[in-house]
Amino acid sequence: MAIRIVRENGDEILRKKSREVEVIDDRIRELLDDMVETLHSYNGVGLAGPQIGILKRLVVIDLYDDKGPIKLVNPKIIKQKGEQEVEEGCLSFPNQFAKIIRPAEVTIEALDENGKKIKIKGEGLLAQAISHEIDHLDGILFVDKIIPGTLEYVSPDSNKDESK
Ligand SMILES: [Zn+2]
Repeated sequence: MAIRIVRENGDEILRKKSREVEVIDDRIRELLDDMVETLHSYNGVGLAGPQIGILKRLVVIDLYDDKGPIKLVNPKIIKQKGEQEVEEGCLSFPNQFAKIIRPAEVTIEALDENGKKIKIKGEGLLAQAISHEIDHLDGILFVDKIIPGTLEYVSPDSNKDESK
């Protein structure tokens, strides 16, 4: 496993659309492991392929609860419900936070790291994280969705850790 460099704001790869993964092999599994390791090293809750320069529909999420790191291949939102106003950041936008509107509940279909079809229903922070990461796969960034006037720059030593 290896920690990858997280691409930051201004890197044009963040604006590109990621491709579906066709074959889930050891290379993909290793990438997912690297993504989890990278996520943990940045204390983030979610990371998408383009953020480490890989234009593949891969997402990892970890809310540091009993579900452990969730690895998703080709995730697709099949249902969403309601709205929540949340404070959000992104590992690709260090020290920036803003309020945005996310769905309150999402249901996704994806493949796991063994190619098995899985379905996950999430609400609250999980719905927010899923929605944020799937946006990354389509080149959409949280700054595209901020409620005007709510963007904040926080100094690096304060304790905000909700970056995705
Ligand atoms: Zn992000």
